[in-house]
Amino acid sequence: MEFEFAALPWQIIFGAGALNRLPAEMDSRGLARALVLSTPEQRHHGDAVADLIGERCAGIFDQAVMHVPIATVSAAQALAKSLNVDCTVSIGGGSTTGLGKALALKSDLPNIAIPTTYAGSEMTNVWGLTEEGRKTTGRDNKVLPTFVIYDPELTLDLPAFISGPSGINAMAQAVINATAASPNPIISALALDGIRALAASLPTVVRESHDIEARTQALYGACLCGAALGAGITSLHHRLCHTLGGSFNTSHADTHAILLGYSVAYNSAAVPVGTQRVAEALGVTDAANGIYDLLHQVSEKTNLQHLGLAATDLDKAADIATETPCSNAAEVTRDGVRELFEQAYHGHRPHV
Ligand code: NAD
Repeated sequence: MEFEFAALPWQIIFGAGALNRLPAEMDSRGLARALVLSTPEQRHHGDAVADLIGERCAGIFDQAVMHVPIATVSAAQALAKSLNVDCTVSIGGGSTTGLGKALALKSDLPNIAIPTTYAGSEMTNVWGLTEEGRKTTGRDNKVLPTFVIYDPELTLDLPAFISGPSGINAMAQAVINATAASPNPIISALALDGIRALAASLPTVVRESHDIEARTQALYGACLCGAALGAGITSLHHRLCHTLGGSFNTSHADTHAILLGYSVAYNSAAVPVGTQRVAEALGVTDAANGIYDLLHQVSEKTNLQHLGLAATDLDKAADIATETPCSNAAEVTRDGVRELFEQAYHGHRPHV
């Protein structure tokens, strides 16, 4: 065995009620003037954080949206500057974490992430920004949150229609790493345990949204899957999702959830051992079909038509996805990607 592994400087506080540790954790790091970030829908979570940290809160910016548009970042940057803040606190899903990361990237503001979905972004050094219909992503350790508070109690009200796809979005980060051309054994260990935790808990999360044990397992799984992506790689699957999200404004988690089974099928012949390990972690015999079945169990959005794509969009999507080279276990061809989109458009069972 030969491998290299570099951990990211993660700092994680995990547990039911962990949010209450925020003021003391800020004080211990000398962080005294925060801009709290949220989406408009989660303003109440932003207000709760502001109440909790009291005078450490300089203001709230509640305009985080999907895919981190540059105009939103500029507006938050201007507010952060006018309030003279020394950090941001993102409470919400990947959109809000993403805004905190963008401010870390552009204004050097340390970010504290309090995730309330299973996006996993808080464990990665990957940033994303959308400008003029194109999403750009990159890696920079300065966008990694200073610390992350995972409190499963904050996820109890996450609706089933967001929880299911969000959990499979997390799983995608692990699946692509466990099925990389040369999987890293440490990253695979994180990835496979993350997949196990999510596969075991997601159906319960969707059925019984207030089951704290299932919520805890799902959030733990998301943490591990995010770590796998943070220390690992992205590949064709992410390219496809970013193409649809950036150019057709499809919902991020739903796009991941719908495409994952097809992405796994696309690569399965190139990486049979990794694919089999993913199947075992899912508790099924075939990974691509196991993911497809899980999707149908936890989400009502199961094909690209459900995300508003038209059949006439698929050629353009395949062109954009393949216009520059993409590192992936199986060879990436324009025809192969076009066929994958065709399958996902109709929601056919993946061909392995
Ligand atoms: P999101 O953050 O947009 O959240 C979806 C909706 O759920 C929002 O309206 C939000 O306010 C609401 N919500 C979140 N938590 C809630 C809760 N506990 N209760 C009630 N409502 C709640 O969606 P997402 O899927 O979490 O994140 C998607 C974004 O994250 C995309 O922009 C994507 O690119 C990014 N992302 C980045 C990475 C990375 O490593 N950089 C990884 C994953 C996702």
